[in-house]
Amino acid sequence: MTDPCVFCQIIRHEAPYNGVYEDETTIAFLSNRPVNPGHTLIVSKKHYETIHQISDEEIAHLYIVVKRVAEAVNKAIKSEGIRIVQNNGEAAGQVIPHFHVHIIPMYGQMPVFHGDIREPSALEKDAEKIRSFI
Ligand code: ZN
Repeated sequence: MTDPCVFCQIIRHEAPYNGVYEDETTIAFLSNRPVNPGHTLIVSKKHYETIHQISDEEIAHLYIVVKRVAEAVNKAIKSEGIRIVQNNGEAAGQVIPHFHVHIIPMYGQMPVFHGDIREPSALEKDAEKIRSFI
């Protein structure tokens, strides 16, 4: 039976993704619907819906990964700034109900998602660049 959670599918390597980092508890990959190129998601490998379920130890480690990946995104993408967002619940804009943090390269304006899907080859080039700085 297919897991209904797309992030759990990615964690088990059952769905395609453009990975930039992975360890025992955390995985980072590019959003396939980026608001800006280089938009990266940092995801707990255990399925927690929101911040209210994840343990202190796991979130502490996950945010160390956020810092490390944000530095790599910054160097690879050369944006003007980096926005770090974490949404909890549909009302807060959470789309995938599996705990994750967004790292979004910024250029001075609030990003607006227009429904564009970045080409898979462009995503892989971004991922490769980011990986080279980790
Ligand atoms: Zn999940």
